[in-house]
Amino acid sequence: MMKTPTPDNTKKETPGEGKSGAGPAPVPNFIRSMIAEDMAAGRSGGRLMTRFPPEPNGYLHIGHAKSICLNFGLAAEFGGLCNFRFDDTNPAKEEVEYVESIESDVRWLGFDWDDRLYYASDYFERLYDYAGQLIKEGKAYVCDLTADQIREYRGTLTAPGKASPYRDRSVEENLDLFRRMRAGEFGDGSRVLRAKIDMASGNINMRDPVMYRIKKEAHHRTGDRWCIYPMYDYAHGISDSIEGVTHSLCTMEYEDHRPLYDWFLDELKIYHPQQIEFARLNLSYTVLSKRRLLKLVNEKHVNGWNDPRMPTLAGMRRRGYTPEAIRNFCERIGVGKKESLVDLALLEYCLREDLNKHALRVMGVLRPLKVVIDNYPEGGEEYLDAVNNPEDPGAGTRKVPFSRELYIEREDFMEDPPKQFFRLAPGREVRLRYAYFIKCESVVRDERTGEVMELHCTYDPATRGGDSPDGRKVKATLHWVSAPHSLEAEVRLYNTLFTKENPNDTEEGRDFTDYLNPKSLEVLTDCRLEPGLKDARAGAGYQFERMGYFCVDSVDSAPGKPVFNRTVTLKDEWAKLQKAGKK
Ligand code: ATP
Ligand code: MG
Repeated sequence: MMKTPTPDNTKKETPGEGKSGAGPAPVPNFIRSMIAEDMAAGRSGGRLMTRFPPEPNGYLHIGHAKSICLNFGLAAEFGGLCNFRFDDTNPAKEEVEYVESIESDVRWLGFDWDDRLYYASDYFERLYDYAGQLIKEGKAYVCDLTADQIREYRGTLTAPGKASPYRDRSVEENLDLFRRMRAGEFGDGSRVLRAKIDMASGNINMRDPVMYRIKKEAHHRTGDRWCIYPMYDYAHGISDSIEGVTHSLCTMEYEDHRPLYDWFLDELKIYHPQQIEFARLNLSYTVLSKRRLLKLVNEKHVNGWNDPRMPTLAGMRRRGYTPEAIRNFCERIGVGKKESLVDLALLEYCLREDLNKHALRVMGVLRPLKVVIDNYPEGGEEYLDAVNNPEDPGAGTRKVPFSRELYIEREDFMEDPPKQFFRLAPGREVRLRYAYFIKCESVVRDERTGEVMELHCTYDPATRGGDSPDGRKVKATLHWVSAPHSLEAEVRLYNTLFTKENPNDTEEGRDFTDYLNPKSLEVLTDCRLEPGLKDARAGAGYQFERMGYFCVDSVDSAPGKPVFNRTVTLKDEWAKLQKAGKK
């Protein structure tokens, strides 16, 4: 369904059709079933319209991806349309930078909205008129209580609210005051427009909620045209109605707001979309609230919204995540009504599954240890054949240089190895991938510290390509690079941003930032890579054999001097958990 996302949403596709072969089959979920039923019954005239309605007050994160895949995905699947609407009702927190990043992230994820890009701010005039209509019918009033007083009068879950002394203003007075609010005659926060519903309602959202507030602040689209702005709860349902949305999918916290949206639509007697709530995504070792992500950015716990440790789509893209991996993840987690904490290992599993198919294999040494091959001719070099991707024979082979001086991974050598260590040690023979068997003959140490500085080895010319003609076995195959040919590079390794499985679950008196992982970023500045990586394109993903998947950092790389991010290690925690019966 999603391989080549197409703006032509009129084409009917059944679930699974046209899906990139290896992606998971659509997981049944209650929203999909509901829509299938509505379509079969010909409700809404057989029409399906969903929408993705972000507020441009931050960057999109993996939780939003769930909503995007759901809304755009279901529309495509059932031959409907999905609108893209910015719910931009709060100028204080919204910025053009966010608008732009959100658009580019949705596109990157593989979805298209054609010409159906909307803004709640496009409806300001209409929303204002609707408010006037409610005032005229005695269903809305201007209230002069302060924000604190309104809160106090609202009551609690157990205590009913108390009517505002301004609740019974005449229609004429309300109309006049509301008009003058718009004209800018009153100060910020001095008055609001409220719906006149029920101060004793068991649902606090129904206790005369605020519809409009005065905010003398320029809006990123309407400029200074307005100094009153509609509240989200007033604008949202009506915006859906204006657009003819049939199925308005939102997260569970809006369940209690639904009666209010219904009230506005019923009182205004306008088209009534159906709202369906689903559980938001929570991910282990991650926070997904924009307010918290903004705090991480503002307090410089991370280097911006697109820091590769961030769960934002911009951060994940920079880290090397692929849209396919994220879409597959969103399909696999399913959609339900009960909140849960999804294991980060599942996301990484989906990522590896995709990268494994497509990433070119290369060799890169992260923590180099010099190896001198004593019996190899001085100044000699040769080029050996290496396979680009064993999963994809079409990816071909490449030549990697070999010479007398090499680097291997420091952790692949132990002077005094324990039993389970099968890699290089004094007197022991191992295979160098695609090259030769080498044997460690001696060790050069730093006289002062005793640290191993260099290994002297011999190679067996008869093992060229990595096979021994006499059937001799070795227990390890190491990756390596030729020292004189190698490319120096910086490599950044990442760990979870938090040490606590659920950092949202903060203990008394603590802040979620208390659980930040001090080891979430490790920078290695002296890595040595295959020379062919010199011209690696920003964003390009590779598997460094045995070390994980890496991609060229799109921000800090310079021509000929790439910086690599480790996207994910090769260790599949998800498979391990499944084997252990824990998933
Ligand atoms: P946050 O809580 O991160 O600030 P939000 O809900 O305020 O998110 P919006 O910009 O209003 O952010 O969200 C746009 C859409 O994305 C909404 O329909 C919302 O329900 C959905 N969404 C946001 N976070 C998640 C999540 N974690 N899982 C699923 N959907 C989400
Ligand atoms: Mg929101």
